[in-house]
Amino acid sequence: MTDPVAALRDIRSRIEIAAKGAGRDPASITLVAVSKTYGDELILPVIESSQRVFGENRVQEAKTKWPPLQARIPNLELHLIGPLQSNKVKEAVELFDAIHTVDRPKIAEALAAEIKRQGRSPKLFVQVNTGEEPQKSGIPPQMTAAFVNVCRNKLELPITGLMCIPPLDEEAALHFGLLAKLAAENGLESLSMGMSEDFETAIALGATHIRVGSAIFGARS
Ligand SMILES: *Cc1c(COP(=O)(O)O)cnc(C)c1O
Repeated sequence: MTDPVAALRDIRSRIEIAAKGAGRDPASITLVAVSKTYGDELILPVIESSQRVFGENRVQEAKTKWPPLQARIPNLELHLIGPLQSNKVKEAVELFDAIHTVDRPKIAEALAAEIKRQGRSPKLFVQVNTGEEPQKSGIPPQMTAAFVNVCRNKLELPITGLMCIPPLDEEAALHFGLLAKLAAENGLESLSMGMSEDFETAIALGATHIRVGSAIFGARS
């Protein structure tokens, strides 16, 4: 079994080395510890090691796991990194501090309405389907500018950045580079890219948020 505390320490030093190698400030990179499927016995030691930002991919799972922890530990930051369904938008806006998966007009509209209603505004990332894979969600690269414009100007949604999940069988760097280019073209500062296998490449290409799960918590069953 993995020791998440030792693994976290290792990931932090790898982030620092990758950042320095790219001439970047390590503090400009947020490690989102992806805790989906893992229980409190693994999450608590990681919190005790000063990790405060966590990622979950399902609203329902996050809703049962995190409120009890949030009641005990201040300043936890919860990020939704999985697909959002319309009927979960209300709960997502209540629970999450950031949503990385704004991936279609319908969800953007529902988020805009719910954010107005609750007066609570998570950071929002537009998910881009950089590999244009039919089974994967996200906005196609060539439609990203138009979609970001609609979010900003029509829906008044403050988009902070872009997110991608590269195809499994392709060079991740190509997709990270494309995402960085799209973000720059659209004046977006945040880039959610890079996971356990490729976060150092993502940092070299400008990632501000890396989403690392199994390299900290061990293999998911
Ligand atoms: C599960 C997941 C991760 C973390 O993956 P690891 O390979 O375990 O680091 C990152 N991003 C998304 C969108 C995920 O669903």
